[in-house]
Amino acid sequence: MAAAVMVGRPRGTEDVLPAQSGRWQRAERIAREFAGRWGFGEIRTPTFEHTELIHRVGESTDVVQKETYDFADRGGRQLSLRPEGTAAVVRACLQGGLVAQGLPVKVYYLSMSAFRYERPEAGRLREHHQFGCETLGAPGPAADAELVSLLGDYLAAVGIHAAVAHVNSIGCQECRPRYREALRAYYGAHLAELCADCRRRLDQNPLRLLDCRVDRALALQAPRAVDFLCADCAAHHASLGRLLDAAGLAWEQDHLLVRGFDYYTRTVFEFVHGGLGAQSGLGGGGRYDRLVAELGGPDIPAAGFGLGLERLLLALEKEGQTGGDAPACSVLVAGDDVEQAFAMATALRRSGLQADFDPLGRSLKAQLRHASRLGARFVAILGAPDEAVVLRDMALRQQRPVQRDGLAAAVAEAAPLDGA
Ligand SMILES: [Zn+2]
Ligand SMILES: [Zn+2]
Repeated sequence: MAAAVMVGRPRGTEDVLPAQSGRWQRAERIAREFAGRWGFGEIRTPTFEHTELIHRVGESTDVVQKETYDFADRGGRQLSLRPEGTAAVVRACLQGGLVAQGLPVKVYYLSMSAFRYERPEAGRLREHHQFGCETLGAPGPAADAELVSLLGDYLAAVGIHAAVAHVNSIGCQECRPRYREALRAYYGAHLAELCADCRRRLDQNPLRLLDCRVDRALALQAPRAVDFLCADCAAHHASLGRLLDAAGLAWEQDHLLVRGFDYYTRTVFEFVHGGLGAQSGLGGGGRYDRLVAELGGPDIPAAGFGLGLERLLLALEKEGQTGGDAPACSVLVAGDDVEQAFAMATALRRSGLQADFDPLGRSLKAQLRHASRLGARFVAILGAPDEAVVLRDMALRQQRPVQRDGLAAAVAEAAPLDGA
């Protein structure tokens, strides 16, 4: 019989092994803490939605046109893996009656998987994970500023210090058509210089030409959205700037920022990190005042952001921030008798300590090596049942005898030194 070949993970996906999961846990713990402080409640939605919902959001965006995982299930339903969080979250807020219960609705999602069938590159995966927040029902710029301040303070708290909020306004239904026309006219005059993607996009989505990496020189000379804003949009944008200044946030006006999704209105923002090269966008969002109505809900405004956690961890690495939450094993119970070691480890665990033992029944020397590999702070070496336990502090390289029934207290008492 031929040996079975091991099947590897699909292209564009990643495993998070225990050695790395501590970094995830740290990023998630702080995200939960900050979203809670800012008054957002956690929401969790299914991994897949009706294709109709996913495709109703931004028919002309590249993500929805070319990059979604669409499939029919065994019952013939057309379903899609979510490519981002907003459409599903808005659907859930509507279906769950949150919008009817009172405004604003403020929700966050954490480590939400999102799927895009795109060419995998650094920090761009076919399955990635997002932290995001959505505010439904608040029309004013204070809601935008609240989202920017949450994301900015969160990034600083996890250890990103080189990130700046780039902010722009792409106007509303009233004023954006004039801006789109101005862009069409400008780029139309430079048609021969455009890349193939931009020539295709020019008619349907001229704003996207501004964030083309190929045609950057042209974009720098292009008409600026802020010069086409109607009075209401201009007032909104000016107020947002004052709110961000008042919050002491590092931000700058970025005339080339448009974001990939069509559904944005007025505010768009993105935190940009110096160390990520071409992939410098860390996370961002904006206002999408028409989306809730387009998804079948009431005509209420909304705003939100999404942050890719893989990208965040990559940026943290570049800042030399590689620490995580994973706690080391605090005490390994060693000894010749596995049954005794198991019983003692169980007692210590029930007393609230993190304890382990060696289920392989190896020599004491091998068990001590095992303790080092686990990063155990203490090893409790069991002798005969009537003898004291030898409690060895692996960090201080000291040991002392401790009575069996006093072991949990002795470890608990010494353990706080761990963090010192
Ligand atoms: Zn406007
Ligand atoms: Zn281009």
